[in-house]
Amino acid sequence: MGPFPSSFILKSVGKKLLWSLAIPALAISLLGVAVLWQRADHAVREATREQAVGQADFLATTFSLASEQAGSPRDAHKAVTWAVRTNPTALKHAAALRVIDRDGVVRWSRRIEEEDRPLPDAPRLLAVGPGTVNFEAPKWPLPFLGDQANRGEVVYPLGGVACAGCHVGQSTMRVGVLQLTVDEPSLRREVALVFLRGLGGLWLFWVLLAVGVSLALRVFLTRPLARLTQAMQRAEEGDFLARSPVTGDDEIGRLSASFNRMVARITSLRASEIDQQRDLDQARVELELKGELEKTNQQLSGRLQELGILYDVSRALNATLNLKEVLEGITALVPARLSVPKFSIMLLSPNGELEVVAAQPANAGSEGLIFAVGEGICGKAALTRKSVYVPDLETDTIFKVRGGDNTKGRGCLLSVPMVHRGALLGVLNFERPEKAGISAEEIELCTAVADQAAMAVQNARLHQQTVELSITDPLTGVPNRRHLFAQLDAEINRANRFGTQLSILMIDIDHFKRLNDGAGHAAGDDVLREVCDLMRRNVRRVDTLARYGGEEFVVVLPQVTRNEALEVAEKLRRAVEEAPVPHRDVQPSGKVTISVGVSNLPVDATDQARLVDCADAALYASKRGGRNRCTAFAQGMEMHPGRERGPHAQRRRTTGEMPAVTPATREG
Ligand code: GH3
Ligand code: MG
Ligand code: MG
Repeated sequence: MGPFPSSFILKSVGKKLLWSLAIPALAISLLGVAVLWQRADHAVREATREQAVGQADFLATTFSLASEQAGSPRDAHKAVTWAVRTNPTALKHAAALRVIDRDGVVRWSRRIEEEDRPLPDAPRLLAVGPGTVNFEAPKWPLPFLGDQANRGEVVYPLGGVACAGCHVGQSTMRVGVLQLTVDEPSLRREVALVFLRGLGGLWLFWVLLAVGVSLALRVFLTRPLARLTQAMQRAEEGDFLARSPVTGDDEIGRLSASFNRMVARITSLRASEIDQQRDLDQARVELELKGELEKTNQQLSGRLQELGILYDVSRALNATLNLKEVLEGITALVPARLSVPKFSIMLLSPNGELEVVAAQPANAGSEGLIFAVGEGICGKAALTRKSVYVPDLETDTIFKVRGGDNTKGRGCLLSVPMVHRGALLGVLNFERPEKAGISAEEIELCTAVADQAAMAVQNARLHQQTVELSITDPLTGVPNRRHLFAQLDAEINRANRFGTQLSILMIDIDHFKRLNDGAGHAAGDDVLREVCDLMRRNVRRVDTLARYGGEEFVVVLPQVTRNEALEVAEKLRRAVEEAPVPHRDVQPSGKVTISVGVSNLPVDATDQARLVDCADAALYASKRGGRNRCTAFAQGMEMHPGRERGPHAQRRRTTGEMPAVTPATREG
């Protein structure tokens, strides 16, 4: 706490107002009192002076009149003395009244004890000379109350008209004097008393006024303001139900009402703010949910798109079992759907190398390029059976450029191996010109595409193998009867269309049954294979050698005349006859021989069935002729017995069924 008690610290508006009114009012009051006192003092002084002079004049006049009536100075003195002593009120304010002679001795005084004695103050009175009026100034601060009362003094020379006879001496400078000293009149005391009472009254008035004003301020200002402040503090602390009592319609009352309205407004604002905050929170939650929903939707639509691509790829790839078409489908579809400008398919060749079999853009020099497994990025993918992604080919060290373009690659490359049931089939290469242009999701999608492609390639290969198996004779490896008829049909159509000739050879191994019986069935198989190989080596690539059934073969010779066909037949016959066929020693002749029948289109027949029948008939003509010979069909041969005929034989030829080995045919 400071040097002042807490009550002096003006925290209250009432006190401030009180003091701000009291201090100037007190100062003005004191100043007014001082001015009034000065005026009153001046008036009293003047009155004292005038009274002193007047009383001195009264004495002088009294003495003059007495001298005139009495006739002698002695009587005049007595009359004055009598007048003075019998009328004390006339000189009631006179403190001293003396006559002093020129020697400084009191000749007469109101106080008898002073008479005929020297006056100590006489030299001063005699020195100042007669007619002097002295006045002593009041003593500050309260001159009225002390011994030092104001005093007026008149010193008259005793050498005036009335006194001249007696008191004028040899020297006018040494005359006696009359001293009249007048005390401060009672007026001054009364005035002083009035002033003192006035001051006291004024003080009381101020005290009462202060108390009244203080109470009024407390009732009308301080207390309502305190209540308002209290309500404001509560509102500030968050109590929006706080209200200030409205005590009247004065400024504070209006202020309180205004404050109450303001708090009510704030309360409603706060309530709406809370509502808004709640709405905002809810909206934020909804927004977050919406964001998540959108994200999920995006993911879903991404997944859907991926699934769509996969579905399209899968559908396109499963639409065909032809490997070439499969590869074409992948190359056409995958780069377009995945927006990959550069794409290639590599297949693992039988000798274990990766060969580019299709590429996009096509014919840009990529097709036919060969990489070893482990070489370059594709080789690494093939080796590890895992996708290899190179985001920046410029900084990559394993990337290898093949073909004419030896510049370093730009952008990014993804090599995905095509693996089916653990077996590597090839590699798909996806390339984009941007660095890091393939996302993780796209890598996943490309891997799925590669899996689909692997399955399609595998299916196509299996299909190809199945087809090949279905048209190939497993024992000899040449086309079987089914393929023979299909091929023959196509060749007949082509010959008819282009007006060319076509010949066929029907070949049968002579006495094969004997060989089988003598050397065993397996030896028969060996001989079949050997004879087949011999004949295959002796026909053109455009000719079709097929196993017709049992130990019978057919050779289709497009664009070959009958005579030329006979030459071919003869060449084959000779080749077999001269060849060191195994187990030939079983045969009585010590060699393996064949008999051949030749027919020609359009010379002998114009349709397939007839053409085969003619060759068959010609073959049996060779058999009949002693075997190990070649015979061209001639009219009438078909009529010859010794070969099965009729509907069964016809069906067997056209449907490609294998002939049943029956005792009859064996014997025949
Ligand atoms: P021909 O000179 O009159 O033709 O006498 P052939 O003995 O050859 O006549 P045939 O048609 O009676 O006999 C054919 C034999 O060929 C009957 C059958 O046992 C045999 N054969 C048929 N297919 C096969 C085969 O796949 N392997 C073996 N080892 N023998 C077969
Ligand atoms: Mg035979
Ligand atoms: Mg036969």
